[in-house]
Amino acid sequence: MKFKSAKINAFRTWGLLLTMLGMGLMVCGTAGIVFWGSAGKIAAAIGLVIGLIAMLASLAIYFWAGMLSTSALQVDCPACGKMTKLLGKTDRCMFCRTILTTDPQQANHTADQLEDQQHLNH
Ligand SMILES: [Zn+2]
Repeated sequence: MKFKSAKINAFRTWGLLLTMLGMGLMVCGTAGIVFWGSAGKIAAAIGLVIGLIAMLASLAIYFWAGMLSTSALQVDCPACGKMTKLLGKTDRCMFCRTILTTDPQQANHTADQLEDQQHLNH
């Protein structure tokens, strides 16, 4: 799965998805009690626990993204001129999604070459 976005933005997207999932599960769990009465209580309990775990996980991801973004390198994007943050040696600009690198050896590679390279490394 390829993310065509900056790594910090990808973290935020996952955090948001997990929050939505957690809230959805908790709402479904509560709705279970309303619709199925006592039979829905077990489903509700499972939904609430999983929902709570998903919410906590999303909180951890948000926290982690926050920590990463404070240690990330701030640069002016040469393509759009906005201030963006780089995670690692190579990352995409948060605004225009141009691939930026601090590694001079990779500086003249095209986006496709960089993605092939990242594919091999992982
Ligand atoms: Zn940019």
